[in-house]
Amino acid sequence: MKHLSEYRNFEATKKYLDEIHKITTKEWNIMEICGGQTHSLVKNGILELLPEKVRMIHGPGCPVCVTPLNLIDKAIELLEKGVIVCSFGDMIRVPGSKKSLLEAKAVGGDLRILYSPLEAVSIAKENPDKEVVFFAVGFETTAPANALSVLHAEKEGLNNYSILASHVLVPPAMEAILDDKLCTIDAFLGAGHVCAIMGMQEYYPLVEKYKIPIVITGFEPLDLVQGIYMAVKQLEEGIYKLENQYARVVKEHGNTAAIKVINTIFEVGAREWRGIGEIPNSGYVIKEAYRKYDAEAKFNISHIKVPENPNCIAGEILRGIKKPNQCDQFGKACKPANPLGAPMVSSEGACAAYYHFSTHLTE
Ligand code: SF4
Repeated sequence: MKHLSEYRNFEATKKYLDEIHKITTKEWNIMEICGGQTHSLVKNGILELLPEKVRMIHGPGCPVCVTPLNLIDKAIELLEKGVIVCSFGDMIRVPGSKKSLLEAKAVGGDLRILYSPLEAVSIAKENPDKEVVFFAVGFETTAPANALSVLHAEKEGLNNYSILASHVLVPPAMEAILDDKLCTIDAFLGAGHVCAIMGMQEYYPLVEKYKIPIVITGFEPLDLVQGIYMAVKQLEEGIYKLENQYARVVKEHGNTAAIKVINTIFEVGAREWRGIGEIPNSGYVIKEAYRKYDAEAKFNISHIKVPENPNCIAGEILRGIKKPNQCDQFGKACKPANPLGAPMVSSEGACAAYYHFSTHLTE
């Protein structure tokens, strides 16, 4: 398949791996932002093929993992109120403070698992006597479709549709990580799909402020190894700039139509990140003009706050301070079938990646 098989080509990937070995003279810590990149690195054995001096740190870019525990409890509260709650499949097994959405469904909650928020709008249209809420989580990548669902509901004149939104943004999370006293990161691989929407503009100020290389990178083995090579080359040369490895998808100004839809419904505001806490200006909140589509306001559930599981160190893993196999619960009390935290459930979670693909990683 074009744009897939050539980026999984062993010979081309090996060439970049050999170049990384040739040019590396010092120890470097490089964070890949996105959980999809983490899975690809672990699944394809790339971590073991890099020089020992090049250490990959897994970043916070798993939307399910960073969704705070209390948001899951809010969705469960809605199910218990008789609301039809619609969600992508990856959220349903994430533990809340007492149960998961799937367990709430098992005791009678009307949970629908969908592929698109627009399906939730159709469900609202078909069920005028029921309230329908879409569980709208994710980074900048899912925000356009969720915003579009609100515009569709408005166009249809639906008063029984709203979204339980927790959209987080990548650049403020990168700043929070870099401002952390414990941060040891020398360079970033930027999340290619986020930049496909948002473009490159937000990253130049980060490069300048922190004097750190950022390479916007894709997800296939060749993408990742080329992105790592570009980052190591900058570090070894003592320079810092924004580079775009994923130029076949990412354009300078991103997807302007998608950005326009986002900006119609959302504005930037404070957001809570699981295990990290609230980061100012780190997410999207629904604009006042569209407040009637905000499920938190509509159902008065904003007050629900619950502490994170003290045995789960997801916050440290999401900030790149620890790796999954440094968690005492990893593979013991916490497994995909019985997860203590979101990173063990999500298809982009670092703990799940280590559990499924990398039991030999002991570092
Ligand atoms: S292994 Fe489980 S308990 Fe430990 S950080 Fe990962 S999800 Fe949390």
